Amino acid sequence: MITEFSILATVSAVSALAFLAYRHRGARKKSAAEINAWQNRLERDLHQAREDRNRLLDALGDAFLLVDAKANIRFANAAARALFGARELLNRPVSEAFLDPRLADALLRCLATGEPVQSRVVLSQQTSPRGDLENRGFNAWIIDAAQLTNPSGDAATTRVIIRDVTAEHQLEQVRKDFVANASHELRTPLAIINGYLENLIDDDMIEEPEIARRFLMVMRKHADRISRIVEDMLVISRLESGEANTLKIEPFRFRSCIKDVKDRLESVIRNQKAEVTVTMPEPELVVRGDRFYWTQVLFNLVENALKQNPHEGLRVDVGCQEVGNSVMIWVTDNGVGIPSADLPHIFRRFFRVEKHHSQQEIKGTGLGLSIVKRAVEAHHGTIGVTSVPGLETKFLITMPTDLC
Ligand code: ADP
Repeated sequence: MITEFSILATVSAVSALAFLAYRHRGARKKSAAEINAWQNRLERDLHQAREDRNRLLDALGDAFLLVDAKANIRFANAAARALFGARELLNRPVSEAFLDPRLADALLRCLATGEPVQSRVVLSQQTSPRGDLENRGFNAWIIDAAQLTNPSGDAATTRVIIRDVTAEHQLEQVRKDFVANASHELRTPLAIINGYLENLIDDDMIEEPEIARRFLMVMRKHADRISRIVEDMLVISRLESGEANTLKIEPFRFRSCIKDVKDRLESVIRNQKAEVTVTMPEPELVVRGDRFYWTQVLFNLVENALKQNPHEGLRVDVGCQEVGNSVMIWVTDNGVGIPSADLPHIFRRFFRVEKHHSQQEIKGTGLGLSIVKRAVEAHHGTIGVTSVPGLETKFLITMPTDLC
């Protein structure tokens, strides 16, 4: 009995132990599987977080790089990859990846000091980070480098933002040139006026009415020139302001606009014995636009033709025709024309063709065609010019009918 009991007890104990061991093994197996699953989930989450971060950084318009303590690039967003074109970026030192050391300079200073650094770099076309893709001449960049805070205490990572500010730089340059040119253009007539005033006052010429009168006439001519330049600059500035109320858009008969211009230039046309014709297949054509600016556009173009060809035999044609969804407006003349090398620059402010004509005196302000171009563009139109000297010089404007 005792033996049977002890056998039974032993069997039970062994079974219980076996059962416990089985449970324990099951539990170990289960926890290993759980750890595995956690690990997988962790990796997936990490991968997802990295993807999200990259997507976010790729959405940035600026080039964004992460650089390690040894100045090796560890991450480059889409804009950075596009900026540097086919060049390899990842795991390369910045000094190798950037074509010009001035681009790397801000970053290297930031790495050396740990302080944020911002710098503006203007590069020539050849040393642009865009390499062969660059076609804008001088290009400008802002480099903004700052170390990221690193709670783990590992060597710090530095983020670098490279912003393309070429458009702003070019605009700034145009403004600077404008101020320089305008000052130059105004200085000449002012110096002449001052010279005559000195003669009149200091040299007592005022006592000689004949001479004084002649001097005053010259002074008036130059004072007129100053007011013309200032007036033209104000028109350009108004057109460039882009303000919605700059233009008063309303329908008007284009022919009446041409008539105004012919009337205003009538004495010049008569004196030069020029012939000014009008070509309008649809004589009553009505266009929508600011009549004031359209009169100025035509006036400047016709006046230029007359001004550049102060001899007999000049023929000028002013025309307007609706073609499909556009209105074509042209002014042609058979005068001396514009040298082909000057054609690309003709609409620039203060640009004048080197005096290739008999004309000795500068009559215009050099702003006429700039006003024409800006007025046309303010009406969403385009203007082009072709010139075969002595045969035909043609300014052709195309305007969308639904916008003009
Ligand atoms: P400006 O006030 O000097 O006339 P514009 O901007 O109107 O200035 O014109 C720039 C230059 O373009 C002129 O100085 C002239 O040399 C040239 N030009 C413009 N229109 C004509 C034309 N029809 N024939 C020849 N040259 C022209």
